[in-house]
Amino acid sequence: MGVVRRTTARHPGAAMRPGDILTHTEMCAYEGQMLQRGMTFREPPRNGIILMSLRPNAPYADAFRADGVLEYEGHDAQRGAGNPNPKNIDQPLRSARGTLTENGKFADWTDRYQRGERPPASFHVYEKMQDGIWTFRGVYELVAYRTERDGYRNVFKFEMQPTDRESEASDPETLHRDAQTRQIPTMVKQAVYKRDRGACVLCGSKDLLHYDHDLPYSKGGSSATVANVRLLCARHNLAKSDRIE
Ligand SMILES: [Zn+2]
Repeated sequence: MGVVRRTTARHPGAAMRPGDILTHTEMCAYEGQMLQRGMTFREPPRNGIILMSLRPNAPYADAFRADGVLEYEGHDAQRGAGNPNPKNIDQPLRSARGTLTENGKFADWTDRYQRGERPPASFHVYEKMQDGIWTFRGVYELVAYRTERDGYRNVFKFEMQPTDRESEASDPETLHRDAQTRQIPTMVKQAVYKRDRGACVLCGSKDLLHYDHDLPYSKGGSSATVANVRLLCARHNLAKSDRIE
């Protein structure tokens, strides 16, 4: 009662596709919760949420490997009276009160997955493009983790494998290759967003934007060049896929 929700292509329950662009508000509406922190674990079959960034000033060192796997860095302890600089201490598995942190929940579930007791946890992955603007990068499964030395302390590295539930392919190698070639590199996305001034190139709408491959990757289009990618609103993006299929 009293909650006004925009009815859009991205209302909760609607499918999102890698390359969709969302404001922070749209992302929160889609996920049904306020998103402040970068890691949100939800017990399968629900998808958890990962907010990541490849920007040079990002607070954590997230990275995509050449095989398409996302290496997502765990999160620091909360800053507090006894902990003025979280970057100087190990990333914690448990909070001061003894409950699992999000690092702990991610690691704990992965242990159980690796023992064959549970399915892998899956996550909606969002990449920050600029303040308030995010891109959906797809659904990733958490398959492994490790701790790594970062100066004097330990940080977590969570290995997230891309899944592609729309793909026809079923063997993991093809899935990985697909996921990798379909993903538009961050540099390209940032350049395209700037060039197209954050608006649909056909109608100027700023709502429900999507990164569009001018020549679809299914027809050999490359996602690696700025020239082959443009911004389209949901209406024009859908109109285009209708024409192709
Ligand atoms: Zn448009």
